[in-house]
Amino acid sequence: KTWVQCGTSMKVLNALKKHNYEKPTPIQSQAIPAIMSGRDLIGIAKTGSGKTIAFLLPMFRHILDQRPLEEGEGPIAVIMTPTRELALQITKECKKFSKPLGLRVVCVYGGTGISEQNVFLTLCLCFVLGCLGRVTNLRRVTYVVVDEADRMFDMGFEPQVMRIMDNVRPDRQTVMFSATFPRAMEALARRILNKPVEVQV
Ligand code: AMP
Repeated sequence: KTWVQCGTSMKVLNALKKHNYEKPTPIQSQAIPAIMSGRDLIGIAKTGSGKTIAFLLPMFRHILDQRPLEEGEGPIAVIMTPTRELALQITKECKKFSKPLGLRVVCVYGGTGISEQNVFLTLCLCFVLGCLGRVTNLRRVTYVVVDEADRMFDMGFEPQVMRIMDNVRPDRQTVMFSATFPRAMEALARRILNKPVEVQV
């Protein structure tokens, strides 16, 4: 597939070209159209496959399709990660596109001292589990990414994932990426995903 066949807008296309992302990787070719169609998705893919772009491009489309945020609202999309390194990596990738698209991205991890003020009017919030304050307003969230789900599971973050999910409206779109998909994770996947498309590379 080409980027255009994946439903990519002109602004995103320009940013992809600027960063020499010439064509979609296999996980991107499979996952992007499925997520753009509005379906939940479980993607089995390792770091290096291009999984980050696979969930970011549909996220940008999702955000730009919403009405603008008003005072005291936000975020529209949240990305849950098990570690600070991963959160920072995703945020870096995200910023290659968020600037030309005019979207505000905030990364939350322990000790950054983020205030509720900063979370307001942020379109995309990328955070490490356990580091998001209880007060954070998730009422406007309609797109959720759970990245490296198997690592989260191994680190015992399942209750935290569920706590966040319980605070997000049930008609959200949910995308989960994992390097492996052990049987023990099936119950979690069933609880957070709605009839997901499965993609494996
Ligand atoms: P990820 O699997 O998301 O951690 O991505 C691995 C690396 O591949 C990152 O450094 C990305 O910047 C890069 N990358 C992602 N998609 C593409 C693409 N379509 N073409 C070339 N490089 C890419």
